[in-house]
Amino acid sequence: METAGLNESQIINEVYIRSFTGNPFIDAGIAAVCALAEKKDPAKISKSDLVDVTQQIMDIYLDNNEPKWQNLGKLFTINCILLNPSNKKNRHRKYEEYLHELMQKVSSASSVGNCIACGSRDAQPLLHGNAQRYPYRDEYPLSGSGGVLNYFSFFERGVPLCPLCTLLLQFMPLYVISNGKRLFLVHSHNPKIMLRIAQDSIISIKKNFSAGASLTFYQPPFKFFNINECAINVAREVIEKASVYEGKSGKTAIRLYSFVNSGQLNRFDFVDLPGEVFEFLEEANLGEMKENINDLFRESKNVTKKGRDIYSCLVNDFDISSPFFLRKRERNVVGGWQLFELYLLRVRKMEKERIEIIKKVGKRLYEYLKTDFKKLRDLEAEEYREFRLALERFQKMTLIYEIDDFPLLFPKDEKGRVRWRETQHLLLMYIYELVNKDKMEVKA
Ligand SMILES: [Zn+2]
Repeated sequence: METAGLNESQIINEVYIRSFTGNPFIDAGIAAVCALAEKKDPAKISKSDLVDVTQQIMDIYLDNNEPKWQNLGKLFTINCILLNPSNKKNRHRKYEEYLHELMQKVSSASSVGNCIACGSRDAQPLLHGNAQRYPYRDEYPLSGSGGVLNYFSFFERGVPLCPLCTLLLQFMPLYVISNGKRLFLVHSHNPKIMLRIAQDSIISIKKNFSAGASLTFYQPPFKFFNINECAINVAREVIEKASVYEGKSGKTAIRLYSFVNSGQLNRFDFVDLPGEVFEFLEEANLGEMKENINDLFRESKNVTKKGRDIYSCLVNDFDISSPFFLRKRERNVVGGWQLFELYLLRVRKMEKERIEIIKKVGKRLYEYLKTDFKKLRDLEAEEYREFRLALERFQKMTLIYEIDDFPLLFPKDEKGRVRWRETQHLLLMYIYELVNKDKMEVKA
């Protein structure tokens, strides 16, 4: 592991990692290497950085021949060098030789290469015991092994990776997060997201390392029971921290993998957090609505819609207007109308014009109803006919809507059905907001 033989300008100019690759496992390694080397741009990682971070993981993972990392088997199986019981007496030497071989074979990035992850170098089989082969599932999670080659393309022996990508896999434990049961890997096209997670994870791991505590995968400060909750909370956590340093990210897609690669029990699942939901969470968090969005999640704790919680609805693109925002019984909009309007615009993609008409009609209804809130019940009708009749009755008494408002007030779906329930909910929500703002009392 040395840089001798290269002059200084060569060392500075050579690029080893061109960029993130799109492969979640390799990108996890790249993010962790950047955080360990304290560099934001993967292209700035030099050979001496690679030497340095490789030395760091040796010290983190092993205490002489003793593995220091708990639950590593969930990521690399019990067969990996770091855990394999047969390496009891020479684990340190074996791991050092393994890393050393990889480092020696690492070449700088070129414009061609058949490595399936980076495409910047050719894949190279390594000596494993007596056989030259590519990584199995004890190096590359959720792939195959000698006995189950059907997990590999064309029954190849292992995953065809270049030496640098194989090395990068060894940094994954520093990036993957856990809720104590499963492992979660956050993958995003936005490098700021991945770097932020890697930095948080490594700060926490280094703190435990210097305290002499046993090490394990990073457990973020928020609780998460399932993959949907994890996806939303990862986004909120990153937004909260990133905003301090970097400002807005805009529409950002996050794919969250949840898996266990123990060899005996392999599990795999993933969800995509829609970019629109990220944008909504970010705008709400950065603006004056921060308390409101916290209220929405706090108040939604025990609420479900057809068996789904708020996290599942947001991740899977189900409308959360009712019952998460709208609380009919309390005649209340949790988080307030302003936050709800942001949700309608960013996530539900509602036309601004429709929202403005709803607000105009809602305001007129409120002005009319505030003299006698008993009539509010007529608007809360369960049937379309009753609801329309109530509106028409009020219209006869005072101007509530113009005839031109109709197409946007009662739009039709693709089958020609009137979306009246949505209109009713929106009008009621706007009225409830005004009632609460003016601290009016509704005794109806
Ligand atoms: Zn590669």
